[in-house]
Amino acid sequence: MIATTMRAARLHRPGTPLAIETVPVPQPGAGELLLEVAACGLCGTDIHLAVDGDIPVARTPITLGHEAAGTIVQLGAGVASFAVGQRVALFPSPICGQCRFCRAGRESLCEATQAYGMSHDGALARYIVAPAAGAIAIPDAVDFATAAIITDGVSTPLHALRSRGALRAGEAVAVVGCGGLGAHAILLARMMGAGFIAAIDTQPQARARALDFGADLAIDPAEQPNPGRAIRAALGRGVDLALEFVGRPETVEATLRCLDTGGRAVLVGVGPARPALPPLLAFVGREHSVIGSFGMDKRDIADLLQLVARGRLDLSRSVTRSFALAEVNEALGQLAKKDTGVVRLVVEPGR
Ligand SMILES: [Zn+2]
Ligand SMILES: [Zn+2]
Repeated sequence: MIATTMRAARLHRPGTPLAIETVPVPQPGAGELLLEVAACGLCGTDIHLAVDGDIPVARTPITLGHEAAGTIVQLGAGVASFAVGQRVALFPSPICGQCRFCRAGRESLCEATQAYGMSHDGALARYIVAPAAGAIAIPDAVDFATAAIITDGVSTPLHALRSRGALRAGEAVAVVGCGGLGAHAILLARMMGAGFIAAIDTQPQARARALDFGADLAIDPAEQPNPGRAIRAALGRGVDLALEFVGRPETVEATLRCLDTGGRAVLVGVGPARPALPPLLAFVGREHSVIGSFGMDKRDIADLLQLVARGRLDLSRSVTRSFALAEVNEALGQLAKKDTGVVRLVVEPGR
């Protein structure tokens, strides 16, 4: 028997704490399912929405949370691909499953531009309604908290490294910005056979963790504003692939300086400002590529769940702490602080 009401962490006004409120349990419509949320990851997007207010929401109040894993408790009309009782993770936005990009397996570009926590109630609640098109089965060996953080915090860097960056074994990689996404980029690049990994971050704890996660060299841009110089001193050349997770002009420009001739820069961080390209003689003459990478595809999440289930990828250091729903503001406060050593935090609404 499913309850008719539930508690949810709702955003009323950015900059004010989320309110824990009792709201009706939503009903799944055609093509949708009702998920009992076991774990919901928090990330920088939640800070932008709830604390800084620099990403606007379509309506308030709205339930936040877009990194969900749980158990299916009810199916809407026409859903045949899943069963009640099945453990699933959710793609972190409610994809349509039908547009030309979804049909091609490029869900990162889905034309239905909705988002949990912005236009659609999210998973910081006991239950969430989601399109079945966005559900991905969780193998028995993977716990809910790990599955939850895979849906965004680990799949975003995999998408950047694999689908957009086309990393090949033996190549040299630089990671600019080593928070939760960057730290996982280092872990994944190591698993994918990167021959050399440089980590660039202003924060000492982030640099220490980057070395712990498998980087060969950690650079403080406060001391070394051109990280390319430190990379060339260590490696004898620039890197084949550089990933940017910050989204500021100066960090994008630093990322391009890390590249070897023929190198690729993949930009993941977003922001309103416009970075500059190097002089065309250098940019064109050295055949540099600058590539955008937005989120992930379903395949990235499904493959990561299998990699963890089979023991190929160890995410045991990735969930720094889990919180009850009532503690969500404490969790957001901890996440908003700089250089605390936090990789990812999760909320467990059933706790
Ligand atoms: Zn996220
Ligand atoms: Zn779509």
